[in-house]
Amino acid sequence: MFMVRDNYSYLSHLECPKCELIYHSTEVQQVCSCGSPLLARYDLESLSKDWDPSSLKDREKNLWRYHELLPVRQPQHIVCLGEGMTPLLRMPSLGMDMSIPKLYMKDESLMPSGSFKARGAAVGISKAKELGVHRFIIPSNGSAGAAWSLYAARGGMSSSIVMPVHAPRITRDGCIAAGAELLLVKGSISDAGRMVAEKVKREGLYDATALKEPYRIEGKKTMGFEIIEQMDFEVPDVILYPTGTGAGLIGIHKALQELQEIGWISGPLPRLVAVQSKGCAPIVKAWEDQQTKSMFWEQSSTEAHDIHVPKTIGDFLVLDAIYQTGGAAISVTDEEISAEQEQVTRMEGSFLCPEGAATFAAARILRSNGWIEEEEKVVVLNTGSGLKYPRISSNEVTLLDPEEAWTS
Ligand SMILES: *Cc1c(COP(=O)(O)O)cnc(C)c1O
Ligand SMILES: [Zn+2]
Repeated sequence: MFMVRDNYSYLSHLECPKCELIYHSTEVQQVCSCGSPLLARYDLESLSKDWDPSSLKDREKNLWRYHELLPVRQPQHIVCLGEGMTPLLRMPSLGMDMSIPKLYMKDESLMPSGSFKARGAAVGISKAKELGVHRFIIPSNGSAGAAWSLYAARGGMSSSIVMPVHAPRITRDGCIAAGAELLLVKGSISDAGRMVAEKVKREGLYDATALKEPYRIEGKKTMGFEIIEQMDFEVPDVILYPTGTGAGLIGIHKALQELQEIGWISGPLPRLVAVQSKGCAPIVKAWEDQQTKSMFWEQSSTEAHDIHVPKTIGDFLVLDAIYQTGGAAISVTDEEISAEQEQVTRMEGSFLCPEGAATFAAARILRSNGWIEEEEKVVVLNTGSGLKYPRISSNEVTLLDPEEAWTS
Protein backbone atom coordinates (compact mmCIF):
# COMPACT_ATOMS: atom_id res chain seq x y z
CA MET A 1 0.00 0.00 0.00
CA PHE A 2 2.89 2.36 0.67
CA MET A 3 4.83 1.49 -2.45
CA VAL A 4 4.85 4.53 -4.67
CA ARG A 5 7.77 4.58 -7.00
CA ASP A 6 9.02 4.86 -10.48
CA ASN A 7 12.50 4.19 -11.70
CA TYR A 8 14.06 7.49 -10.79
CA SER A 9 13.66 7.15 -7.02
CA TYR A 10 13.01 3.90 -5.18
CA LEU A 11 11.56 5.77 -2.20
CA SER A 12 8.86 3.66 -0.64
CA HIS A 13 7.70 5.15 2.66
CA LEU A 14 8.79 6.83 5.88
CA GLU A 15 9.41 4.89 9.04
CA CYS A 16 9.89 5.78 12.69
CA PRO A 17 13.11 4.19 13.95
CA LYS A 18 11.78 4.35 17.52
CA CYS A 19 8.20 3.06 17.44
CA GLU A 20 8.21 1.68 13.88
CA LEU A 21 5.09 3.56 12.77
CA ILE A 22 4.92 3.97 9.00
CA TYR A 23 4.01 7.17 7.12
CA HIS A 24 3.26 8.07 3.51
CA SER A 25 6.06 9.80 1.64
CA THR A 26 3.64 11.42 -0.80
CA GLU A 27 2.68 14.23 1.57
CA VAL A 28 4.48 16.59 3.95
CA GLN A 29 5.61 14.87 7.15
CA GLN A 30 7.61 16.23 10.04
CA VAL A 31 8.45 14.04 13.05
CA CYS A 32 6.65 10.89 14.24
CA SER A 33 3.76 11.26 16.66
CA CYS A 34 6.18 9.84 19.28
CA GLY A 35 8.59 12.74 18.64
CA SER A 36 11.29 10.75 16.86
CA PRO A 37 12.76 11.76 13.50
CA LEU A 38 11.35 9.79 10.55
CA LEU A 39 13.64 7.95 8.15
CA ALA A 40 13.08 7.48 4.43
CA ARG A 41 12.86 3.84 3.34
CA TYR A 42 13.47 2.56 -0.18
CA ASP A 43 12.48 -0.55 -2.05
CA LEU A 44 15.96 -2.02 -1.68
CA GLU A 45 14.96 -5.45 -2.80
CA SER A 46 13.89 -4.27 -6.26
CA LEU A 47 16.79 -1.86 -6.40
CA SER A 48 19.34 -4.60 -5.75
CA LYS A 49 18.06 -6.34 -8.90
CA ASP A 50 17.81 -3.21 -11.05
CA TRP A 51 20.99 -1.32 -10.18
CA ASP A 52 24.72 -1.94 -10.22
CA PRO A 53 27.80 0.24 -9.70
CA SER A 54 28.73 0.27 -13.40
CA SER A 55 25.68 2.46 -14.08
CA LEU A 56 27.40 5.28 -12.15
CA LYS A 57 30.22 5.57 -14.65
CA ASP A 58 28.52 7.96 -17.05
CA ARG A 59 26.59 9.99 -14.55
CA GLU A 60 27.14 13.64 -13.67
CA LYS A 61 29.61 14.34 -10.92
CA ASN A 62 27.15 15.57 -8.33
CA LEU A 63 25.18 13.86 -5.58
CA TRP A 64 22.14 13.28 -7.80
CA ARG A 65 24.12 10.43 -9.39
CA TYR A 66 22.60 8.34 -6.58
CA HIS A 67 19.03 9.37 -7.42
CA GLU A 68 17.67 5.85 -6.95
CA LEU A 69 18.48 6.17 -3.25
CA LEU A 70 17.32 9.78 -2.95
CA PRO A 71 13.75 10.83 -2.23
CA VAL A 72 12.97 13.08 -5.22
CA ARG A 73 10.66 11.24 -7.65
CA GLN A 74 10.68 13.69 -10.55
CA PRO A 75 13.96 15.14 -11.79
CA GLN A 76 12.32 18.44 -12.69
CA HIS A 77 11.98 19.23 -8.98
CA ILE A 78 15.70 19.07 -8.36
CA VAL A 79 17.32 22.27 -7.12
CA CYS A 80 21.01 21.89 -7.94
CA LEU A 81 24.08 24.07 -7.61
CA GLY A 82 26.47 21.31 -8.61
CA GLU A 83 26.76 19.87 -5.08
CA GLY A 84 28.62 16.68 -4.33
CA MET A 85 31.46 14.48 -5.55
CA THR A 86 33.91 16.47 -3.48
CA PRO A 87 37.51 15.22 -3.45
CA LEU A 88 38.65 12.35 -1.28
CA LEU A 89 42.29 13.27 -0.75
CA ARG A 90 45.20 11.30 0.61
CA MET A 91 46.92 13.23 3.41
CA PRO A 92 50.46 11.89 3.18
CA SER A 93 52.40 14.44 5.26
CA LEU A 94 49.81 14.69 7.98
CA GLY A 95 49.34 10.92 7.88
CA MET A 96 53.07 10.48 8.46
CA ASP A 97 52.99 13.03 11.27
CA MET A 98 50.10 11.18 12.96
CA SER A 99 51.40 7.74 12.07
CA ILE A 100 48.28 6.94 10.04
CA PRO A 101 49.76 6.37 6.57
CA LYS A 102 46.35 5.62 5.05
CA LEU A 103 44.78 8.89 6.14
CA TYR A 104 42.19 10.46 3.82
CA MET A 105 40.19 13.66 3.92
CA LYS A 106 36.75 13.99 2.38
CA ASP A 107 36.91 17.68 1.59
CA GLU A 108 33.55 19.39 1.79
CA SER A 109 35.09 22.85 1.64
CA LEU A 110 34.42 22.82 -2.10
CA MET A 111 30.67 22.58 -1.70
CA PRO A 112 28.35 25.41 -2.79
CA SER A 113 27.85 27.70 0.26
CA GLY A 114 31.22 26.55 1.65
CA SER A 115 30.04 23.62 3.73
CA PHE A 116 28.53 20.17 3.45
CA LYS A 117 25.23 21.71 4.59
CA ALA A 118 24.61 22.17 0.86
CA ARG A 119 23.88 18.43 0.62
CA GLY A 120 21.03 18.54 3.13
CA ALA A 121 19.73 21.78 1.66
CA ALA A 122 19.78 20.51 -1.93
CA VAL A 123 17.86 17.33 -1.18
CA GLY A 124 15.66 18.83 1.57
CA ILE A 125 14.57 21.76 -0.58
CA SER A 126 14.12 19.71 -3.75
CA LYS A 127 11.85 17.29 -1.91
CA ALA A 128 9.95 20.10 -0.18
CA LYS A 129 9.40 21.65 -3.60
CA GLU A 130 8.11 18.35 -4.95
CA LEU A 131 5.67 18.18 -2.04
CA GLY A 132 4.38 21.69 -2.82
CA VAL A 133 6.07 23.62 0.01
CA HIS A 134 6.73 27.30 -0.78
CA ARG A 135 8.12 28.55 2.49
CA PHE A 136 10.11 27.10 5.36
CA ILE A 137 11.82 28.09 8.60
CA ILE A 138 14.95 26.73 10.25
CA PRO A 139 17.11 27.45 13.28
CA SER A 140 20.81 27.39 12.46
CA ASN A 141 24.24 27.88 13.98
CA GLY A 142 25.27 29.55 10.75
CA SER A 143 26.24 27.20 7.95
CA ALA A 144 22.83 25.56 7.54
CA GLY A 145 21.14 28.96 7.41
CA ALA A 146 23.45 30.10 4.65
CA ALA A 147 23.05 26.89 2.65
CA TRP A 148 19.28 26.70 2.97
CA SER A 149 18.88 30.39 2.04
CA LEU A 150 20.98 29.95 -1.08
CA TYR A 151 19.13 26.82 -2.25
CA ALA A 152 15.80 28.50 -1.45
CA ALA A 153 16.82 31.35 -3.75
CA ARG A 154 17.78 28.88 -6.45
CA GLY A 155 14.51 26.98 -6.05
CA GLY A 156 12.26 30.05 -5.85
CA MET A 157 11.20 29.46 -2.23
CA SER A 158 10.98 31.80 0.75
CA SER A 159 13.07 31.09 3.79
CA SER A 160 13.19 32.28 7.39
CA ILE A 161 16.40 31.61 9.27
CA VAL A 162 16.75 31.96 13.04
CA MET A 163 20.34 32.15 14.31
CA PRO A 164 22.06 32.77 17.61
CA VAL A 165 23.41 36.32 17.64
CA HIS A 166 26.96 34.93 17.97
CA ALA A 167 26.83 32.89 14.75
CA PRO A 168 29.69 33.77 12.38
CA ARG A 169 29.00 37.00 10.56
CA ILE A 170 29.75 35.60 7.11
CA THR A 171 26.94 33.07 7.37
CA ARG A 172 24.51 35.90 8.13
CA ASP A 173 25.68 37.71 5.04
CA GLY A 174 24.90 34.63 2.94
CA CYS A 175 21.31 34.60 4.21
CA ILE A 176 20.78 38.30 3.62
CA ALA A 177 22.35 38.24 0.17
CA ALA A 178 20.01 35.38 -0.77
CA GLY A 179 16.95 37.36 0.35
CA ALA A 180 16.08 35.20 3.35
CA GLU A 181 14.27 36.58 6.36
CA LEU A 182 17.03 36.47 9.01
CA LEU A 183 16.22 36.66 12.71
CA LEU A 184 18.84 36.69 15.46
CA VAL A 185 18.25 35.29 18.93
CA LYS A 186 19.98 36.45 22.09
CA GLY A 187 20.81 32.89 23.05
CA SER A 188 21.98 29.51 21.83
CA ILE A 189 20.89 27.21 19.02
CA SER A 190 18.56 25.52 21.50
CA ASP A 191 16.84 28.85 22.17
CA ALA A 192 16.60 29.43 18.42
CA GLY A 193 15.11 25.95 18.02
CA ARG A 194 12.48 26.62 20.69
CA MET A 195 11.48 29.89 19.06
CA VAL A 196 11.19 28.20 15.67
CA ALA A 197 9.01 25.45 17.17
CA GLU A 198 6.66 28.09 18.61
CA LYS A 199 6.38 29.97 15.34
CA VAL A 200 5.77 26.73 13.45
CA LYS A 201 2.96 25.85 15.82
CA ARG A 202 1.38 29.28 15.58
CA GLU A 203 1.69 29.78 11.84
CA GLY A 204 1.74 26.25 10.45
CA LEU A 205 5.04 26.79 8.64
CA TYR A 206 7.12 23.96 7.15
CA ASP A 207 9.69 23.16 9.82
CA ALA A 208 12.99 22.30 8.14
CA THR A 209 14.88 21.97 11.44
CA ALA A 210 17.53 19.23 11.24
CA LEU A 211 15.82 15.86 11.76
CA LYS A 212 12.34 17.41 11.98
CA GLU A 213 11.78 16.69 8.32
CA PRO A 214 13.01 13.38 6.87
CA TYR A 215 14.98 14.50 3.83
CA ARG A 216 17.93 16.63 4.95
CA ILE A 217 19.52 13.45 6.24
CA GLU A 218 19.06 11.85 2.81
CA GLY A 219 21.21 14.60 1.33
CA LYS A 220 23.84 14.17 4.02
CA LYS A 221 24.01 10.44 3.50
CA THR A 222 25.49 10.98 0.04
CA MET A 223 28.83 11.64 1.79
CA GLY A 224 28.76 7.94 2.64
CA PHE A 225 27.97 6.88 -0.95
CA GLU A 226 30.76 9.06 -2.31
CA ILE A 227 33.39 7.82 0.13
CA ILE A 228 32.60 4.24 -0.83
CA GLU A 229 32.49 4.91 -4.55
CA GLN A 230 35.73 6.91 -4.39
CA MET A 231 37.39 4.00 -2.56
CA ASP A 232 36.29 1.63 -5.32
CA PHE A 233 33.74 -0.04 -3.06
CA GLU A 234 36.33 -1.01 -0.50
CA VAL A 235 35.16 -0.09 2.95
CA PRO A 236 37.52 2.02 5.11
CA ASP A 237 38.19 0.98 8.71
CA VAL A 238 37.26 4.22 10.44
CA ILE A 239 35.24 7.33 9.53
CA LEU A 240 35.42 10.36 11.83
CA TYR A 241 32.77 13.04 11.75
CA PRO A 242 32.31 16.37 13.61
CA THR A 243 28.97 15.93 15.31
CA GLY A 244 26.38 18.61 16.06
CA THR A 245 22.82 17.42 15.39
CA GLY A 246 24.37 14.14 14.24
CA ALA A 247 22.40 14.15 11.00
CA GLY A 248 25.63 13.73 9.05
CA LEU A 249 26.76 10.71 11.02
CA ILE A 250 23.30 9.14 11.00
CA GLY A 251 23.23 9.76 7.25
CA ILE A 252 26.60 8.12 6.64
CA HIS A 253 25.54 5.11 8.70
CA LYS A 254 22.28 4.88 6.75
CA ALA A 255 24.15 5.09 3.44
CA LEU A 256 26.46 2.24 4.45
CA GLN A 257 23.54 0.08 5.56
CA GLU A 258 21.71 0.70 2.29
CA LEU A 259 24.78 -0.17 0.22
CA GLN A 260 25.21 -3.30 2.30
CA GLU A 261 21.58 -4.28 1.72
CA ILE A 262 21.78 -3.88 -2.04
CA GLY A 263 24.99 -5.89 -2.02
CA TRP A 264 27.42 -3.18 -3.14
CA ILE A 265 29.64 -3.55 -0.06
CA SER A 266 30.35 -6.45 2.25
CA GLY A 267 32.19 -7.17 5.48
CA PRO A 268 32.08 -5.10 8.64
CA LEU A 269 31.08 -1.45 8.37
CA PRO A 270 33.66 1.26 9.21
CA ARG A 271 33.82 2.17 12.90
CA LEU A 272 32.03 5.50 13.11
CA VAL A 273 33.45 8.17 15.40
CA ALA A 274 31.50 11.21 16.60
CA VAL A 275 33.78 14.15 17.39
CA GLN A 276 32.61 17.03 19.58
CA SER A 277 34.12 20.01 21.37
CA LYS A 278 34.90 19.66 25.08
CA GLY A 279 32.69 22.72 25.66
CA CYS A 280 29.63 20.94 24.23
CA ALA A 281 29.89 17.15 24.20
CA PRO A 282 26.54 15.55 25.04
CA ILE A 283 27.05 12.59 22.70
CA VAL A 284 30.51 11.88 24.11
CA LYS A 285 29.18 11.95 27.67
CA ALA A 286 26.33 9.60 26.77
CA TRP A 287 28.70 7.21 25.00
CA GLU A 288 31.14 7.22 27.91
CA ASP A 289 28.26 6.41 30.27
CA GLN A 290 26.98 3.78 27.80
CA GLN A 291 23.62 5.50 27.51
CA THR A 292 21.25 5.24 24.56
CA LYS A 293 20.34 8.93 24.66
CA SER A 294 22.04 12.17 25.67
CA MET A 295 21.36 14.83 28.31
CA PHE A 296 21.08 18.55 27.56
CA TRP A 297 24.59 20.08 27.87
CA GLU A 298 24.33 23.06 30.21
CA GLN A 299 26.42 26.23 29.72
CA SER A 300 27.94 25.03 26.51
CA SER A 301 30.54 27.04 24.65
CA THR A 302 32.92 26.42 21.75
CA GLU A 303 34.52 28.24 18.85
CA ALA A 304 33.43 25.41 16.56
CA HIS A 305 29.97 26.93 16.05
CA ASP A 306 28.51 24.30 13.77
CA ILE A 307 28.96 21.51 16.32
CA HIS A 308 27.60 23.60 19.15
CA VAL A 309 24.42 21.59 19.77
CA PRO A 310 23.59 20.91 23.45
CA LYS A 311 20.87 18.35 22.65
CA THR A 312 19.63 16.72 19.46
CA ILE A 313 16.48 14.71 18.88
CA GLY A 314 18.59 12.31 16.83
CA ASP A 315 20.89 11.48 19.76
CA PHE A 316 19.69 7.86 20.00
CA LEU A 317 20.38 7.33 16.30
CA VAL A 318 23.90 8.77 16.56
CA LEU A 319 24.63 6.55 19.56
CA ASP A 320 23.14 3.56 17.78
CA ALA A 321 25.41 4.17 14.77
CA ILE A 322 28.42 4.27 17.09
CA TYR A 323 27.45 1.16 19.09
CA GLN A 324 26.47 -0.87 16.01
CA THR A 325 29.76 -0.22 14.24
CA GLY A 326 32.02 -0.56 17.29
CA GLY A 327 32.83 3.14 16.98
CA ALA A 328 33.56 5.81 19.57
CA ALA A 329 32.79 9.37 20.63
CA ILE A 330 35.54 11.78 21.61
CA SER A 331 35.86 15.46 22.47
CA VAL A 332 38.70 17.91 21.90
CA THR A 333 39.45 21.36 23.31
CA ASP A 334 39.22 24.60 21.34
CA GLU A 335 43.01 24.90 21.74
CA GLU A 336 43.51 21.48 20.15
CA ILE A 337 41.18 22.56 17.35
CA SER A 338 43.19 25.73 16.55
CA ALA A 339 46.50 23.89 16.76
CA GLU A 340 45.28 21.17 14.41
CA GLN A 341 43.78 23.72 12.02
CA GLU A 342 47.22 25.29 11.63
CA GLN A 343 48.97 21.94 11.44
CA VAL A 344 46.76 20.58 8.65
CA THR A 345 46.88 23.81 6.68
CA ARG A 346 50.67 23.93 6.93
CA MET A 347 51.28 20.30 6.13
CA GLU A 348 48.66 19.78 3.42
CA GLY A 349 47.63 23.23 2.19
CA SER A 350 44.03 22.63 3.08
CA PHE A 351 42.37 25.48 4.93
CA LEU A 352 39.96 23.62 7.18
CA CYS A 353 36.97 24.78 9.15
CA PRO A 354 37.29 24.38 12.96
CA GLU A 355 34.86 21.44 12.92
CA GLY A 356 37.05 19.61 10.40
CA ALA A 357 40.12 20.46 12.47
CA ALA A 358 38.42 19.00 15.56
CA THR A 359 38.04 15.77 13.66
CA PHE A 360 41.71 15.58 12.69
CA ALA A 361 42.65 16.36 16.29
CA ALA A 362 40.47 13.42 17.36
CA ALA A 363 42.15 11.09 14.85
CA ARG A 364 45.52 12.11 16.27
CA ILE A 365 44.39 11.26 19.83
CA LEU A 366 42.78 7.97 18.82
CA ARG A 367 45.94 6.93 17.01
CA SER A 368 48.18 7.83 19.93
CA ASN A 369 46.07 5.83 22.39
CA GLY A 370 46.01 2.89 20.01
CA TRP A 371 42.28 2.90 19.20
CA ILE A 372 43.24 3.49 15.57
CA GLU A 373 45.93 1.12 14.35
CA GLU A 374 48.74 2.14 12.07
CA GLU A 375 47.64 0.10 9.07
CA GLU A 376 44.02 1.19 9.15
CA LYS A 377 42.34 3.18 6.40
CA VAL A 378 40.94 6.29 8.05
CA VAL A 379 38.61 8.88 6.52
CA VAL A 380 38.22 12.28 8.20
CA LEU A 381 35.44 14.63 7.18
CA ASN A 382 36.38 18.26 6.68
CA THR A 383 32.82 19.57 6.65
CA GLY A 384 33.52 23.09 5.43
CA SER A 385 35.92 25.81 4.42
CA GLY A 386 38.13 27.78 6.80
CA LEU A 387 37.30 30.84 4.72
CA LYS A 388 33.94 31.03 6.46
CA TYR A 389 35.54 31.88 9.78
CA PRO A 390 37.11 35.29 10.23
CA ARG A 391 39.27 34.40 13.26
CA ILE A 392 41.99 31.95 12.41
CA SER A 393 45.14 32.88 14.25
CA SER A 394 46.69 35.61 16.28
CA ASN A 395 49.86 35.60 14.22
CA GLU A 396 51.72 38.86 14.03
CA VAL A 397 52.42 39.80 10.45
CA THR A 398 55.12 42.23 9.30
CA LEU A 399 53.81 45.49 7.83
CA LEU A 400 55.95 46.96 5.07
CA ASP A 401 56.30 50.66 4.36
CA PRO A 402 56.82 51.10 0.60
CA GLU A 403 58.89 54.26 1.24
CA GLU A 404 61.49 52.32 3.19
CA ALA A 405 64.09 49.78 2.13
CA TRP A 406 63.87 46.15 3.23
CA THR A 407 65.25 45.99 6.73
CA SER A 408 66.09 42.33 6.76
C1 LIG B 1 26.47 21.37 10.61
C2 LIG B 1 27.91 21.18 10.60
C3 LIG B 1 28.51 20.13 11.32
C4 LIG B 1 27.71 19.15 12.14
O1 LIG B 1 26.86 18.37 11.35
P1 LIG B 1 25.59 17.65 11.96
O2 LIG B 1 25.03 16.90 10.82
O3 LIG B 1 24.68 18.71 12.48
O4 LIG B 1 26.06 16.77 13.06
C5 LIG B 1 29.88 20.00 11.23
N1 LIG B 1 30.63 20.86 10.52
C6 LIG B 1 30.10 21.89 9.83
C7 LIG B 1 31.00 22.81 9.07
C8 LIG B 1 28.73 22.07 9.84
O5 LIG B 1 28.21 23.10 9.16
ZN1 LIG C 1 7.56 6.94 16.45
